[in-house]
Amino acid sequence: MTHFVICENAACHFVLDISNQERQATRRQSILSACPECGSNLSSTCPFSGRVLLVHWPGGLPHCACCHRKLQPNPNAHTPPPGPAPIANAAKHH
Ligand SMILES: [Zn+2]
Ligand SMILES: [Zn+2]
Repeated sequence: MTHFVICENAACHFVLDISNQERQATRRQSILSACPECGSNLSSTCPFSGRVLLVHWPGGLPHCACCHRKLQPNPNAHTPPPGPAPIANAAKHH
């Protein structure tokens, strides 16, 4: 079974496959306690749904299997929404 952990830092979201580490770390209580990228806590649950994290890699990008969200760094937490579509208020010609 494949196990993943994800960095709890929303600006990092580093995904780590711990399947291999698990075999090597059978004698250890904890496999990894901190993100190797930013040092934040690692979570074994989906940051969006709270379920056990399962990762799919379509196109080489990590996606949550339960809510199908991209597990990517989110440096812009407040991404401005796209501007309203300009309303074509063309004058009517009769
Ligand atoms: Zn991190
Ligand atoms: Zn999810």
